[in-house]
Amino acid sequence: MIHVTILASGSSGNAILARAGDSSILIDAGLSAKRLQTLLADLGTPLEKLSAILLTHEHVDHTRGLNGLCVKQQIPVFTNPLTADSLRKNNAHVNWRLFSSGAAFDLGDFQIFPFSVPHDAADPVGFVLRHAASSFAILTDLGHATRQVMNATRGVNAVLLEANHDEVLLQNDQKRPWSVKQRILSRHGHLSNQAAANLIGEIASPDLKHVLLAHLSEDCNAPSLASGTILEKLQATGNGHTQVHCPGAEGFPLPHTITV
Ligand SMILES: [Zn+2]
Ligand SMILES: [Zn+2]
Repeated sequence: MIHVTILASGSSGNAILARAGDSSILIDAGLSAKRLQTLLADLGTPLEKLSAILLTHEHVDHTRGLNGLCVKQQIPVFTNPLTADSLRKNNAHVNWRLFSSGAAFDLGDFQIFPFSVPHDAADPVGFVLRHAASSFAILTDLGHATRQVMNATRGVNAVLLEANHDEVLLQNDQKRPWSVKQRILSRHGHLSNQAAANLIGEIASPDLKHVLLAHLSEDCNAPSLASGTILEKLQATGNGHTQVHCPGAEGFPLPHTITV
């Protein structure tokens, strides 16, 4: 079994704890080191019990607490060379372990498969984590779903999936300048609810137990809109058995844990 806990999700910070067997892995470290340390300790995983940190990409909402954690405890940090290069300057205390996107590797009791995603970062990846017969995919910060993304995640037991914005709400938003909207909507930006639903339609299977919606925009989305769009697609594709969660929304307080 894999226990997945969403610690934080959204543009203010992203962090996920995955535990299986004797291994505990933090995926992304987008909260302050102090806050992450407290959250992890509350979950029975003090820093000295953390096996590793995995990074999807270098954006600050995924790496804010990285150096601070590594000052407190020497935790190996796994990422690809280009992501590490873009972070080295401001993360002097990090003990880097480099992987290649597209090449699976073992990490304690997990097998990790990092795969490339299209997003405006140096070399962004998603992950599939496997332990025994259980699998969990992390798919946030991507502008569109490539064939490679679908092939990597099809058939998993659970997926953390970006449902960033409702396209109409984003188009009508008064706060964001046109250039920012273009960036979000681009093929290297973020997934809309509809794009997330289309991806789910491609990768859902009888084995898909949970969809955890992530990285929702506060201004240009609503949990009910995102969940509704995904549920509709699941029903339409004969996958009404799959549960949809929206961590951080009403009824799903953070930290939010599922087991697959
Ligand atoms: Zn992000
Ligand atoms: Zn990003």
